[in-house]
Amino acid sequence: MGEFDLIKRFFTRETEAQPGVPVGIGDDCAVIAATPGMQWLVSTDMLVEGRHFLSTVAPERLGHKALAVNLSDLAACGARPRAFTLALSMPRVDEQFLAGFARGLFALADAHGIALVGGDTTAGPLNICITVMGEAPAGTALLRSGGQAGDDLYVSGTLGDARLALEVFRGTAVLASGEDFELARRAMECPTPRVALGQALRGIAHSAIDVSDGLLGDLGHVLKRSNLGATLLADTLPRSALLARQPLALQRLCTLAGGDDYELVFSAPATARAAVQAAAAASGTPVTLIGRLEAEPGLRVLDGQGQVLPQTPAAFDHFKS
Ligand code: ADP
Ligand code: MG
Repeated sequence: MGEFDLIKRFFTRETEAQPGVPVGIGDDCAVIAATPGMQWLVSTDMLVEGRHFLSTVAPERLGHKALAVNLSDLAACGARPRAFTLALSMPRVDEQFLAGFARGLFALADAHGIALVGGDTTAGPLNICITVMGEAPAGTALLRSGGQAGDDLYVSGTLGDARLALEVFRGTAVLASGEDFELARRAMECPTPRVALGQALRGIAHSAIDVSDGLLGDLGHVLKRSNLGATLLADTLPRSALLARQPLALQRLCTLAGGDDYELVFSAPATARAAVQAAAAASGTPVTLIGRLEAEPGLRVLDGQGQVLPQTPAAFDHFKS
């Protein structure tokens, strides 16, 4: 099967033109209708075998995850997803892989009502690069730089299960049962981007980021861009029942420096507590208060007794970890 047959068979859908996309796959450019009063928000994420995923992952989950991590960036900025492109290189045309990959990819795309509008396909090492395009009313995008001293800090969902799975794959953690392992593995391979929550937080949150490389590292980006410090309550960090059954040191590693969580960390003024909870309820996404932004620089991580944790694990670094 050649390049063009592959694109036609796996990535071109025979459905009618998508609303707002007069030209999709097949021309030199896609043409997307701009909505008056909206700004474009664009983000790219690349997934490399061995760095971002293991060769053991099911193709369907890989298709899901490749789009999910990109949608998570739109969610962090409060954008409504509109369309995406896919650049794919792989060693050979593996039809079974492509069919599964496309299934996972399009299931998530359909859940968010967005179209694949173009891409590029070539032979090479397995590498998946997606660019997502979304929109938000002009001037309303949630940014890392918007935090204010005194803001409450929140996180959505739970943290740490994906890292727990990674530790099991690495042989540095052992879980009690196969079901436990499947739960953790699912978190790693099938993250849920918090797209509805992100949009519900526009006009409420001051700052936001999605947790892809671990809470401490990603919160650090917010502190740097907002020129602030923070206090974080390590024992209030939400975690699954599965993670809560693991040794405390492992719980701390996974919640504080997990990586691959794709939850939103955001700050909002204390006066907005009811609005934050209403946004969480409206989007069906639980959120937990985990700390506070402060004028004093630095990140202070406290345990349940209010003592500063002397050592905190490092953030995930794709050139080191
Ligand atoms: P060009 O040479 O003009 O860059 P290509 O020949 O690479 O275009 O691609 C042909 C068409 O197929 C283009 O519309 C391109 O956007 C689309 N395309 C290529 N690869 C993919 C892919 N993996 N997924 C979706 N669309 C793709
Ligand atoms: Mg091309």
